[in-house]
Amino acid sequence: MAKIAEVTSGNWTGLRGDVVKESKKLVYVRRPGGGMVPVNREHVIIAEPQPIALDPQMLTMTDGYVGSFGKTWETPTAETLEIAITGAMRENGMTREQVVEALVDGRALKWGVSPNYYYDHSDAIIGRKREARPVEMVRCDCGHSVPQDTRMMASLGTSCPDCYDRMSD
Ligand SMILES: [Zn+2]
Repeated sequence: MAKIAEVTSGNWTGLRGDVVKESKKLVYVRRPGGGMVPVNREHVIIAEPQPIALDPQMLTMTDGYVGSFGKTWETPTAETLEIAITGAMRENGMTREQVVEALVDGRALKWGVSPNYYYDHSDAIIGRKREARPVEMVRCDCGHSVPQDTRMMASLGTSCPDCYDRMSD
């Protein structure tokens, strides 16, 4: 990964781009539109790119095999994560950094095909676990609190499922 230069003073103030090359006095910064500009070293801050942390715990993967209960999804181990990353690089023509970035962004990536592909035509996939949203509890007119999506509208007001008959007049 290239270092990132940020120009903080001089003619190119505000320019931010990859460091293409460096000399004692100059830093050649890639311009987002293409080409590069030499900038005096004193005008530039250079940052090392930070490796993105990829926590296997936030990921889930399947080898694509379709069994009687469908595909099996598992939290990757260090070893299976490496297999999936390498596979995703190959399948998608991506660099390791691009794969890691995509996974952190929440994109799902194909990393191979099912060992039983001839029969199930299924892909091996890795992606982010869906975050379990905290269930929002709401208080109904019947006096009980229930998860929001189970609240019912009865003629006497909002109701939990248990009280629906009583609350319907
Ligand atoms: Zn109730």
